[in-house]
Amino acid sequence: MSSTTLNIGIIGGGISGITAAWLLSRRHRVTLIEKEPQLGGHTHTHILGSGPDAGTPIDMGFIVLNDRNYPTLLTLFSQWGVRIQNSDMSFGFEDKDSGFYYSSDVPRGLFARWQNLISPCFWRLFWDVFRFNRIAARELKTGLGHLTLGQFLQQYGFSRAYIDFHIVPVSAAVWSTPSENILDFPAESILRFYNHHGLLTLAHRPQWKTVAGGSVSYIQAFEKQFQGAVKKASPVRHVKRMTDKVKVIFEDRTEMDFDRVVLATHADISRQILAHPQPDESRILSKWSYIRNQVTLHTDKQVMPPRRSAWASWSYLQIGAKQRNPAMTMSYYMNRLQRLKTRDDYFVTLNGDTWIEPGRRIESVLFDHPCYTFDSLSTHPELDAINGKDRIFYCGAYCGYGFHEDGARSGLAVAQKFGIGL
Ligand SMILES: Cc1cc2nc3c(=O)[nH]c(=O)nc-3n(C[C@H](O)[C@H](O)[C@H](O)COP(=O)(O)OP(=O)(O)OC[C@H]3O[C@@H](n4cnc5c(N)ncnc54)[C@H](O)[C@@H]3O)c2cc1C
Repeated sequence: MSSTTLNIGIIGGGISGITAAWLLSRRHRVTLIEKEPQLGGHTHTHILGSGPDAGTPIDMGFIVLNDRNYPTLLTLFSQWGVRIQNSDMSFGFEDKDSGFYYSSDVPRGLFARWQNLISPCFWRLFWDVFRFNRIAARELKTGLGHLTLGQFLQQYGFSRAYIDFHIVPVSAAVWSTPSENILDFPAESILRFYNHHGLLTLAHRPQWKTVAGGSVSYIQAFEKQFQGAVKKASPVRHVKRMTDKVKVIFEDRTEMDFDRVVLATHADISRQILAHPQPDESRILSKWSYIRNQVTLHTDKQVMPPRRSAWASWSYLQIGAKQRNPAMTMSYYMNRLQRLKTRDDYFVTLNGDTWIEPGRRIESVLFDHPCYTFDSLSTHPELDAINGKDRIFYCGAYCGYGFHEDGARSGLAVAQKFGIGL
């Protein structure tokens, strides 16, 4: 690509747009455009404003990364001088109807409910955890083709307890997706993700981390050092290819012209704002749909199992084996994840409206997560072909597994198209 300085507009100030903006600004004039009054997208930290813990930063969106699977993000953090600290990852589950609960803390959490010791269903679940790891590692060597997670579990005869009380809740929690949808996820993608993250073995697991001072710290560090322009509170309505430039039209009808534009918004939004998309852009982007999650920061312990010894960093709450709430409900125990030294316990719960007392709610936000189907995943190999075609580029966590590293890596991939690396 040309070595002249280009005028580049980047739409979307989440991790994908921030990464592309940071790298491209080394050689080009960059304007980062964000709809909201602040940058961050899914990076959202609430600073407690009152009460005994006033001033404490609590993360409500992006919370954790690890030292093995986040190389792009870790490099950026080191360039920005962002400090990270060890976190503590554990998983817990509670079924309100049957009163069954456990957490992955051995032995305290596993047997926090003493009846687990004599429950055949619990021991079958426990046995299936090891069986799943063994079978998954073996089957990944040959590939699982078009098998869904549901079909994979059925094919290998996993117990109802393992499916309903473990693998479905864990996977639904990881992908912020309702349990019913998770069974339709491509098995191979899920298994590869678990394998890649060291979740199919009990040894050599990565060390999980959080950003010291809350994830907002990295946004602040980026903004302090970024050499380009930032245009906040500026929702884009349309992006139009002109003969020799790209026009960005804002909701307030003002316009800006750029030599190149990067769409760092979710795929469905990119499709919406792109005026006159080319047929392959339209086909690829329209295969992505998103699941909306309501995320609430609060202090209501009702979302956690009755015994503290079963309180895990991630805690899934179910009402009966077939959860009646169509959205999945899970809570992050923030004191444990962020090592908070607060007087109160703080939780961030996804879709917990039924459980959280209104008086205990601190803030609620809505976040959309990409939905992974065979159809949407089939676009991954094609994304590179539309990237940069006729002066428009794409990035976003949807270009990978949907996590922060995927967003950062997709921003890096755009920069690489301009010959710029990390
Ligand atoms: C509750 C929750 C917790 C999560 N926790 C983790 C975690 O701990 N670790 C992890 O690795 N991943 C986590 N994720 C995944 C994480 O959200 C994604 O990896 C990543 O942050 C998404 O980045 P993005 O840049 O693709 O999108 P976003 O962060 O959503 O950024 C897109 C940006 O585009 C802006 N925008 C949209 N429309 C317009 C418009 N018309 N004009 C201008 N701007 C626009 C939006 O306002 C937004 O700022 C979590 C996700 C959720 C939902």
